[in-house]
Amino acid sequence: MNPSVKSKISRFFPDAKFDYPFAKLTTFRAGGPASVLIDVAAEFQLRDLLALIADESLESLCIGRGSNLLISDLGFDGVVFRLTGALAQIEFKGDRGIAGAGASLVEFARAAAKQGLSGLEFAGGIPGSVGGAVYMNAGAHGSDISCAVSEIRVVSPGGETETIGKEAVNWDYRQGLQDSRIISTTIFKFFSETIDRITKKMDNYLNLRKESQPAGYSAGSVFRNPPGEKAWQLIKDAGFMGMKIGGASVSDKHANFIMSDGTAAGGDIYCLIRAVQKGVMEKTGIELIPEIRLIGKFEE
Ligand SMILES: Cc1cc2nc3c(=O)[nH]c(=O)nc-3n(C[C@H](O)[C@H](O)[C@H](O)COP(=O)(O)OP(=O)(O)OC[C@H]3O[C@@H](n4cnc5c(N)ncnc54)[C@H](O)[C@@H]3O)c2cc1C
Repeated sequence: MNPSVKSKISRFFPDAKFDYPFAKLTTFRAGGPASVLIDVAAEFQLRDLLALIADESLESLCIGRGSNLLISDLGFDGVVFRLTGALAQIEFKGDRGIAGAGASLVEFARAAAKQGLSGLEFAGGIPGSVGGAVYMNAGAHGSDISCAVSEIRVVSPGGETETIGKEAVNWDYRQGLQDSRIISTTIFKFFSETIDRITKKMDNYLNLRKESQPAGYSAGSVFRNPPGEKAWQLIKDAGFMGMKIGGASVSDKHANFIMSDGTAAGGDIYCLIRAVQKGVMEKTGIELIPEIRLIGKFEE
């Protein structure tokens, strides 16, 4: 990033952090530096930032909690930004919940439960932001975020804001609002239920998670389930459980999880992904497609 762009960014965003390590921003704890990390605390700032990014023709990446990202060890040459402050607030009005995209999905789901609002019980163990969940159509236990979303407020790369209904999104398996617009706020519609029932359902889901998923540095399930198949089963049957490359290993508890021991480079995780894909393809002819987002250049 050239010095004049850096000083322009510093003028607009005095707290901008340059050469910020992605290892501090992702649940894999891996990846090289972001040229600059900016915390955006209000919608007008988001509009200003998107305008600056467009004016200077910069690459950009909006991140949530980094729980579905694998970043190259070369890092990301561009502007990385997170939504905080007013863009991470939550509130409830009747059967509606309003969540800034930067809010924690787990905290929002728990707060809804405390209000006797049902619809996000499945989300109690998904460690992302509300924006990341709407982008990914995060889901579990037979439900996903699309079931609870009512409207989404977005900001376009040109800085225009718009509120769109859920029907305007092409929801699919792990596919939510995936275009160049930034999700600013989401309005959810809940159903009334007793707090006790909601809490029991959430606790039950969390227990199932604890039984089947490993704790540690990961990005959850690495691969999408191919139609009619379970990715974990294919990986297990291909004999990859426990396989290690550098500080990365295929979990021996859940074969679709790749774990870092805290020292894994992005390249270690990437090589393991490629090895698993190749092995499963050779054994079954099925292509495993990553569910996690790979950002930057990786060496084969
Ligand atoms: C232990 C563990 C368990 C998990 N379990 C599940 C699970 O059960 N189900 C599931 O679906 N996922 C699961 N995940 C994956 C992950 O938590 C979800 O995909 C989550 O929704 C990602 O949210 P995030 O804020 O971390 O997004 P990030 O990883 O930061 O970003 C993901 C994508 O969303 C985009 N994005 C983020 N915020 C915005 C925004 N405001 N506007 C536009 N784009 C945005 C980013 O650019 C990126 O492309 C798990 C992960 C872990 C580590």
